Amino acid sequence: MGKSITHKIIEQHLVSGEMVPGTEVGLRIDQTLTQDATGTMAWLQFEAIGIGEVRTDISVSYVDHNTLQMGFRNPDDHRYLRTVAAKSGAVFSPAGTGICHQLHLENFAKPGATLIGSDSHTPTAGGIGSMAMGAGGLSVALAMAGEAYFIPMPKVVKVHLTGELTGWAAGKDVILELLRRLTVKGGVGKVFEYGGPGVESLSVPDRATITNMGAELGATTSIFPSDAKTKDFLEKMGRGNDWIELVADEDAVFDEVIEINLSELEPMVAQPHMPDLVCKVKDLAGKKIDQCAIGSCTNSSYSDLKNTAQILSGKQTPPEVDLLISPGSKQVVKMLAREGLIEPLLDAGARVLECSCGPCIGMGGSPTSAGVSVRTFNRNFEGRSGTLDGQVYLASAQTAARLALEGEFTDPATWGPAPERVELPKDVPSIRDLFVFPPEDKSVVEILRGPNIVALEDFDELPQTVEAKVLLKVEDNITTDHILPAGAEITALRSNIPAISQYIFSRVDAEFVNRMKEHGTGVILGGENYGQGSSREHAALGPRHLGVKAVIVKSLARIHRANLVNFGILPLLLVDPSDYDKLSEGDDLVIPAGAMTPGGTIDITTASGKTVAVTNDLTKKELEIIQSGGLLNAVRNNQS
Ligand code: SF4
Repeated sequence: MGKSITHKIIEQHLVSGEMVPGTEVGLRIDQTLTQDATGTMAWLQFEAIGIGEVRTDISVSYVDHNTLQMGFRNPDDHRYLRTVAAKSGAVFSPAGTGICHQLHLENFAKPGATLIGSDSHTPTAGGIGSMAMGAGGLSVALAMAGEAYFIPMPKVVKVHLTGELTGWAAGKDVILELLRRLTVKGGVGKVFEYGGPGVESLSVPDRATITNMGAELGATTSIFPSDAKTKDFLEKMGRGNDWIELVADEDAVFDEVIEINLSELEPMVAQPHMPDLVCKVKDLAGKKIDQCAIGSCTNSSYSDLKNTAQILSGKQTPPEVDLLISPGSKQVVKMLAREGLIEPLLDAGARVLECSCGPCIGMGGSPTSAGVSVRTFNRNFEGRSGTLDGQVYLASAQTAARLALEGEFTDPATWGPAPERVELPKDVPSIRDLFVFPPEDKSVVEILRGPNIVALEDFDELPQTVEAKVLLKVEDNITTDHILPAGAEITALRSNIPAISQYIFSRVDAEFVNRMKEHGTGVILGGENYGQGSSREHAALGPRHLGVKAVIVKSLARIHRANLVNFGILPLLLVDPSDYDKLSEGDDLVIPAGAMTPGGTIDITTASGKTVAVTNDLTKKELEIIQSGGLLNAVRNNQS
């Protein structure tokens, strides 16, 4: 029987388990990436493991999220990351060099390699055929230490592409169409593998946009074949030797097949506040726009910004539209500058920002109160822009640039001819010298820390019987932004768990932290898709520091579930979702945690006599990790 690309890569990296969907497989990891927001913790964890040097082919520590230096915290973190990378044999990418996923695609990702990153958009590298997955920082720390990465063997969905993009439709519209059809829950436990005759018409940046935002489907990852387009991309990046051909066998069998005819796609947008609330741009005609932001790891490539410059050239945005552009890397900026494409951006009225996440993570560029912001990003959760009532729409770079000129949503049929599809130039300038490679003699490197970098505390083992109150009841689709809001003030505390924990659920229920302090332990009750969004492990570490012992939910998002396991919080699933209504905030619960078995059911009782059955989807190993108080304890126990 023929194999998919996904099966080929997993087979080559399999260290434990069998390739049966849903059962656990352990994978050897070739590459890791970290970014500063989650990376300081990942590196503190790597240090705590005590392994010395990284054991991957390459590990890269990027600084792209918290690049603002408004006090000592961020610069201290950057210095810590630079020195710990040098000491540990990893590559360091300084602030301003670019966004981790764009940089990794351009400089390090390889077809056929496994990559995990402490950022949920790590699947961007799937655009050139890497099996690239977002993971918790601790999983990344362990992979850097040479440990396997464990996932449930995914189902493989073939997205069969036919036709060719026409007019103003872009790669972004392919993934928006999938989100429209499948919703933010539609990809859980699945890899989306692209194939069919339409693939060859898509550029590598288009492919990377699609795999990047596959994360919004909840997918394990997304992957494209490595073909002639990939070869051309890698050769132009000066990495022709990294290319291998990687395609699915003709007779490969898939768990599911989805058909998309690229020729039928037209410009689309995701409406506030979910990436799957997708409609056609023309359906919003007449709605005023206050801001357009072009950039992020989804759409900040050379081709995105060259198209933007072509659309804006010789024109100006209306004064009421604030236009922000954040290039994905200095390589992109160098190419634009060389071709005289920065000037049209500036002349159009755009603010050209640093090569970093910037407005995507709420670092500047917040829209006005209730302002409509059209962004080329991948997420539009409420409040993520930094403006609580901001109305964020997600679109392609071409659509956002064109709408910036219009000042309102209009029908793309009135936009005139679309810009040409951009190819990379032959002589792409290198930025390799901007990366800091580790020295031969690492003994001379001193790891430098600041006062905001606090070593990890030890966590206790899980008791046989957990007695705790429900201290928070939340609804469906709670995101990691709800659990721990983004924003400069909060994320600056990412290496200081006691300090950052004070913000847990602060925008959902300002009294939650005080209740946790008063009781010392607690349980959170949630609905469907609890913990969707980013890979932010602080959303598990913070609750654990406060004393949260379990979350009881209808369903859980994949990465957050892994983070809960890693930090020793029980992720319990209601057997009957309607039991959610039976439990209330303030209920005293007795959870017989010691009686839990993988996939088994236990009864939780309340002091008032109610009984609720909960189950779990934990493996034996995951259960042991939780019982020992988290993965660091478990790894240390194994070592000793
Ligand atoms: Fe940065 Fe935004 Fe991409 Fe996250 S989604 S890596 S914040 S650009």
